[in-house]
Amino acid sequence: MAYVITQSCCSDASCVPACPVDCIRPVGAAPDATSAQMLYIDPEACIDCGACVDECPVNAIFYEEDLPPQLELFKEINAAYFHNKPLESEARPATNPRPRALSKTLRVAIVGAGPAGCYAAAELVGVDGVEVELFDRLPTPFGLIRSGVAPDHQHTKSITKSFDHLFADKQFRCHFNVDVGRDITHDELIAHHHAVIYATGASTSPALGIPGEDLAGAHPAADFVGWYNGHPDHAGHTFNLGTPRAVVVGNGNVALDVARMLLTEPARLAATDIAQPALDALSQSTIEEVLILGRRSLRHAAFSAGEFLALGNLEGIDVIIDGHQVDDVDPAGDDLDVETAFKLRLAREYARRPATPGNKRIVFQFSAVPMEISGAQQVEKLRIARADTKDDAWVETSLVLRSIGYQGVPQRGLPFDAGKAVIPNDQGRVIDEAGRPLPGTYVTGWIKRGPRGVIGTNRACAQETVAQLWTDYAEGTLDNQVQDGASLTALLLQRGITTVGWEGWRAIDDAERERGARMSRPRVKFTVIPEMLTAATKQPTMQ
Ligand code: NAP
Repeated sequence: MAYVITQSCCSDASCVPACPVDCIRPVGAAPDATSAQMLYIDPEACIDCGACVDECPVNAIFYEEDLPPQLELFKEINAAYFHNKPLESEARPATNPRPRALSKTLRVAIVGAGPAGCYAAAELVGVDGVEVELFDRLPTPFGLIRSGVAPDHQHTKSITKSFDHLFADKQFRCHFNVDVGRDITHDELIAHHHAVIYATGASTSPALGIPGEDLAGAHPAADFVGWYNGHPDHAGHTFNLGTPRAVVVGNGNVALDVARMLLTEPARLAATDIAQPALDALSQSTIEEVLILGRRSLRHAAFSAGEFLALGNLEGIDVIIDGHQVDDVDPAGDDLDVETAFKLRLAREYARRPATPGNKRIVFQFSAVPMEISGAQQVEKLRIARADTKDDAWVETSLVLRSIGYQGVPQRGLPFDAGKAVIPNDQGRVIDEAGRPLPGTYVTGWIKRGPRGVIGTNRACAQETVAQLWTDYAEGTLDNQVQDGASLTALLLQRGITTVGWEGWRAIDDAERERGARMSRPRVKFTVIPEMLTAATKQPTMQ
């Protein structure tokens, strides 16, 4: 018997050092360590001790015998990873040069309180002499954990608990509701800190660049995601849900999230922290079918095997794939990675499943390229060109969501690589056009490496960035004189900025949970900033 890692794995590798026989992969310098959607336990080597279970922040690890039926396949998925890559001891990244204590105070600002910023803080807090100040433009922390992870993935959201110790630390202060670039400049931050780490993510959506994309009813999926998650930027959005079919363009995990949210029964949604306006609107939805378009074939689909598997277990929803669409590729072929092989296998199984009368449908079309959206006042239909058969057909729909990834935006005062939509950097050190490091300025997360990877991928990313910072500290490049925390607080006060600290966020959190309890829901989020600020001030300990 062995332990098995399952769908909600966040890949932050907290389980890895806990394993006494080192049987969890991929880690360290393995080529797939940064791109892996999940980690795997070698069943041959596992000694059933369960140490990994205690460390997992998202409850993704089960004892083989206790696997819920819908997760059974993960037993095979875990084992299959090691068929192609037998367990060997793997090179770990060079020992983290994190010092234990500093001879003098080092003040570090982190901009962005999402997972990337929190993992960066975790690398710093605990070192004697470090003061960390965490900024976010919203009054609430946790970035995409709060406003990106789908509400039906509450296990994943529980990863925020693993950051609780940071916020309780006396070396740590939060300045939420502060927009760096607008309320305070980069130069001012640098004047108050020896180092500034930007973890601002990738908040915009690229365009498809096809005619009709600006019609009402065509939206970036990110707007829909922000709306159902109660992000204040998306509070006022409306989506036409009074249509039998919605079309989602793109083949990533966000496309699957969106499809599930469009079709899940309201009663199930109500058991999540979905924003109340989205719950109310989706309760009136008449959508029966979500058509998901992948411009390439199934073997190139970006969604993870675990999420694809989970679709097939949704109650009242069929997954429809035309048998002809399943690649003519042997799922057991040696050239396929374990995830792709499972996706092909699952697709074949879905293609064989009979449709259930009365069920809603998630329909996949691969090699399907959106060409044109058409309608008089709003979206009425979408033309799709088939790259495999060269056919061309219109499908009727009033809602098109493009789920084709995210893009970083420039940060005022810093260089920007418009082609890659990232802040140019060398392993996390921000560099200018000539490749010279900008003193004391770093990046981590999606704004450093682009919008790839799951939540835990940000941990290794932050370790790499903070390792550069320690090197710079050791070499004396972070030795400049800076102003203290009191001076920073005074500056923000003088500008009339209502700063929300950790206690303020806790007050918002409590108020949301109380609102939820009154409606038998886990929480009812505030979706507009003034309401958040009012809730935050209910506590006396605003910073
Ligand atoms: P993604 O994984 O990068 O997928 C983007 C998809 O859009 C790809 O299928 C891509 O196809 C397609 N695409 C790009 N440009 C297109 C165009 N012009 N026309 C048609 N299709 C186009 O992006 P994402 O889904 O936004 O996810 C972002 C990251 O968050 C990923 O790393 C993802 O795994 C992660 N995430 C994880 C979870 C989870 O673990 N449950 C949930 C949500 C997000 P090509 O491959 O052909 O370029």
